[in-house]
Amino acid sequence: MVERRAGRVVALQANYCLVVLDRPGPDGQQRLLCTRRTRLGKSGQRICVGDRVEVDGIDWPSARAAISALEPRSSLLERPAVANVSRVVVVVAVREPTLDPLLLTRFLVTAEATGQSVQLVLTKADLLPASELEAWCERVTGWGYPVHAISTLTGQGLGALRASLVESGIAVLCGPSGVGKSSLLNALLPNLELRVGNVSGRLQRGRHTTRHVELFSLSPTALLADSPGFNRPDLPDDPGVLSQAFPELRHRLAETSCRFSNCRHQGDPGCAMGSDWDRHALYGQCLCEVEQRAEALAMAGQRLAGLRQRGSRLEPRLDPQLRRESRRRRRQELENDLSAGLSLPDPAD
Ligand code: GDP
Ligand code: ZN
Repeated sequence: MVERRAGRVVALQANYCLVVLDRPGPDGQQRLLCTRRTRLGKSGQRICVGDRVEVDGIDWPSARAAISALEPRSSLLERPAVANVSRVVVVVAVREPTLDPLLLTRFLVTAEATGQSVQLVLTKADLLPASELEAWCERVTGWGYPVHAISTLTGQGLGALRASLVESGIAVLCGPSGVGKSSLLNALLPNLELRVGNVSGRLQRGRHTTRHVELFSLSPTALLADSPGFNRPDLPDDPGVLSQAFPELRHRLAETSCRFSNCRHQGDPGCAMGSDWDRHALYGQCLCEVEQRAEALAMAGQRLAGLRQRGSRLEPRLDPQLRRESRRRRRQELENDLSAGLSLPDPAD
């Protein structure tokens, strides 16, 4: 009889998946280097870190096996690609770099877009006087986020953060680079280096090779993933999606509605939010960016609709007599419009 085992993919590299089995094998082996059965590939099923899988063809002495089945996912994060995530932890420093509420909001909006619960970690707490730190914590709590202020230098807040993260499920850390995410991972997983050293040669993970996501165990059921730092996340395309990504707005709108259904919540008459909320102006900045981008795309679309395809080129639909002289000019105008419209100057820059 074929021996099958259930486990979770914790790292991917080239054609291999590193799977941690739910139960160890005969000699305690729990981490197997696995290939994918070709029929998985044929059905178009991509395997992601975080996926629950079934393996067979197990060769215990060499700790090798093949993934034969993929369990349905409860969620899929796109960037980084992690399946079955249950929490997103936004990590920002209170100083070095200075905490910028707009950048923090962009990260929070991106985290909210996953539909999972979002929490916040403020790092480098040792660099700010206690009263200022407390003010930040109160401020983001008011936005609707559970927060932990920590320092990997002094150890402040690490115990409480760890306790909140060992709840079962997969948590993903995200935030700009330089805020201390690597330091935090090392503080939470003191034997990280040791364990990494034990991974098979094909899956070596150096400190500077975090291109691939990897899941680390905080407890038998709690896993933590780092995400490759990206510094300025995009906002959603749709203002409706943006408003849902601000918990203070989302909660108010769930209770009561504004007078106009297309309310911008920026001092509009009959707005249920009013103007007396902390992120009113930050929301306004994000909203302007979303609206400008939508407008630029719509304009570019209209222009394109007035054109016709000729070979590999776009040409205006014109009276043939007018065509020759205006062709050059129209094309130049269009190029100008497109380049101006599609790469709008960013209000935050
Ligand atoms: P990452 O890019 O987010 O992974 O950040 P790193 O963990 O590489 O840390 C960036 C810099 O911040 C390093 O110089 C760390 O020594 C420093 N750092 C990290 N955590 C703390 C902290 O809690 N307090 C202070 N003062 N510095 C820290
Ligand atoms: Zn409103």
